[in-house]
Amino acid sequence: SPLPDYLSEVLQACSDEDGGELAAYIPELADADPDRLALALSTPSGTRYAVGDADVRFTIQSISKPFAYALALVDHGLDAVLERVGVEPSGDAFNEISLDPATGRPLNPMINAGAITVHSMLDADRVQAGFAAFAGRDLEVDEEVHASELESADRNHAIAYMLRNHGIIEAKPTEVVDGYTRQCSLLVDVGDLAVMAATLANAGVHPETGERVVPRWVARQVLSVMTTCGMYDAAGDWFTLVGIPAKSGVSGGVIGALPGKGGFAAFSPRLDEHGNSTRGVRIFERLSRDMGMHLMEVP
Ligand code: GLN
Repeated sequence: SPLPDYLSEVLQACSDEDGGELAAYIPELADADPDRLALALSTPSGTRYAVGDADVRFTIQSISKPFAYALALVDHGLDAVLERVGVEPSGDAFNEISLDPATGRPLNPMINAGAITVHSMLDADRVQAGFAAFAGRDLEVDEEVHASELESADRNHAIAYMLRNHGIIEAKPTEVVDGYTRQCSLLVDVGDLAVMAATLANAGVHPETGERVVPRWVARQVLSVMTTCGMYDAAGDWFTLVGIPAKSGVSGGVIGALPGKGGFAAFSPRLDEHGNSTRGVRIFERLSRDMGMHLMEVP
């Protein structure tokens, strides 16, 4: 089929981009092979294409945030979640202690403060089961990455203590950060991420299993927040250039979900100054241009 050939060509064209650095604040991630490169597409009819290092598994990291947010919305409803976590872009880095000065609420669920709060609203089994439903298979935790990140998670602990000080989370900060870090350490490949993104793009129905994973309004809410906050302090650059809801993670993954059209995922570990994969961003810019994916493009 010409589609895998096209995807391979995009990978090839972006492989000369070698800017950026591995995430060093999580020691295990600093050991990753910086040259890994993979791309996958999942269509609403349930076809999955994956090229490059498509069988390499990596930790999901911040790409877990939209999916955990979806589960919290299902379990608690929109109002209860909004009471604790807002939907405004912070314009700050992902690990900034961005809390609304008046309420102490994290500005949005895509930055660590918001994601730690969202995680505190879910129990451990729910995270495992919910992510399995999005992926269409059980996901394992990379125990080494989990332990490695937890060792140096001073910043996330500081955020969690601030959150409890403001009454935003009730649980013990160390337990919440442990659980949140486990959530970030779930192992995926690009195909898993593409299908998870496609489930959001497909109004909450998994394109392969046919299971309704989340209600339609939840998928819409999550895609909206990914649009405004998914790429952190590069959200404006991303949306003007690429123009689709997206989320990046510090291990080098990037997902993009095109409503009604499918999910994409790219993986390459070197990151730009915002913590977004340099090649991942390049790949999506190219895909968006070639395929006319920009949501603001008037047909
Ligand atoms: N686990 C990472 C952290 O909390 C996730 C950050 C990311 O992927 N941007 O710092």
